[in-house]
Amino acid sequence: MLQLITKVASLHRLTPITLTPMNSPSKVQNCRITLEKKGGSNYAKLSYPIHCGMFTEIISDSFILHFNLKSEILRARGKGANWGHPHEWLKRTQGNDWIYYSTGGYNGVFEAIGEYYLPNFDYQTNNLLGGHPFSESTISGLTISWYQLLTELAENLNDASKPVRRFLDRALTNTPACLAEKAKRLQEIIGGRTSVLPPDARHVDYNLIPLTIAEGCLHKCRFCKVKNASSFSSKTTIEIGDQIGRLKNLYSEDLPNYNALFLGEHDALQAGGKLICFSIEEAYRQFGFADSHIAEHKSFFFGSATSLVNSPEQLFVNLEKLPGMYYINIGLESADQDSLDKLGKPISVSLVQEAFRRMQEINDRYSSIEVTANFIMDDQLPANHYPAILELIRESLVHTKPKGSIYFSPLTFSQPSRARLFEFNRLKILSRLPTFLYIIQRL
Ligand code: SF4
Repeated sequence: MLQLITKVASLHRLTPITLTPMNSPSKVQNCRITLEKKGGSNYAKLSYPIHCGMFTEIISDSFILHFNLKSEILRARGKGANWGHPHEWLKRTQGNDWIYYSTGGYNGVFEAIGEYYLPNFDYQTNNLLGGHPFSESTISGLTISWYQLLTELAENLNDASKPVRRFLDRALTNTPACLAEKAKRLQEIIGGRTSVLPPDARHVDYNLIPLTIAEGCLHKCRFCKVKNASSFSSKTTIEIGDQIGRLKNLYSEDLPNYNALFLGEHDALQAGGKLICFSIEEAYRQFGFADSHIAEHKSFFFGSATSLVNSPEQLFVNLEKLPGMYYINIGLESADQDSLDKLGKPISVSLVQEAFRRMQEINDRYSSIEVTANFIMDDQLPANHYPAILELIRESLVHTKPKGSIYFSPLTFSQPSRARLFEFNRLKILSRLPTFLYIIQRL
């Protein structure tokens, strides 16, 4: 239950304002509100949380709440003995999911996923690590009670400065129902929920604007749990321009907190160089990425073995001329024909090998492009599955490379497994490319 707020120090652009207490001293709770607080400008990989961009912060004795520049709840954490660790946070995505960032006890989390935090979801994914934080009432409770905390705080501030009052009034209009509605509007604009984001999006903590430039995918693999029924089709430049305009309206004042783009859906590479470059340039201009609070633009998209080998050199030459970094993630899944067949992935092992070779060429040739690849992890696959992958990620390379990450994606969902983690560690040690686990995250 919320303790009533009676003593508040408010900061507006670093100017402290003390507000008059109005409740009995026994219920005093100190609270500080900082409007437009400037966080980090780089998603640096550090062992403590860095909050990037600009946000409003409310700190009380028992909780911390962060709001974006549209006064929508962004992050929350409890304080005190009941909260697991001061480095652990809840984050709300634009898809209106809450994610719990745990430290994972620092036990091998960085080695496994390339980040110091471990994302935990309250929906099913393929995570091998982590527990069930949302079953703890302190954590799940805060995803619900934050609005009541905010309401009581606003009611008990009788002396707030105009900017603080404006912020509170606006934040209160962003009710949980209203935020759910905005998430629906995002899905409606981009043509449906983004069921999976590329693993490379971890480099921006998945804070990106989705833009659908093509629907569906080429292969409709039997094993895949994130595919949809749409056969592959590209959007027109008019449709993409319209989508950008509507996204610009939706993100509005919070646009400066973004400098990353996800080109959807499952095989944007197949849409071709012209459409890809048009979409990136138009989004960069319309979203004002050059003026973002976040340094260095990054774009992410998926490709397939087919679209990668069919992409002409000119696409990569043109991408290299655009500002920022480009991450293209290719689903290869296996380098063994029996395994591909068992997975129901309708491509040949020679295409996988060719795509892998092409990936190395592009990574060697273009400093601002990184092509990464996914393989499946599952102990039920034929015996040659892992040896065939090692043939590519170890034997085919003369020495280790810093670029061209390999992601292993467990086939089964919601089944943390120590045995599979052990297998992953073995593959990581042998691999000559940076190698991580792929935790499927939606938007
Ligand atoms: S793995 Fe990729 S290509 Fe295969 S069905 Fe899923 S999204 Fe489509």
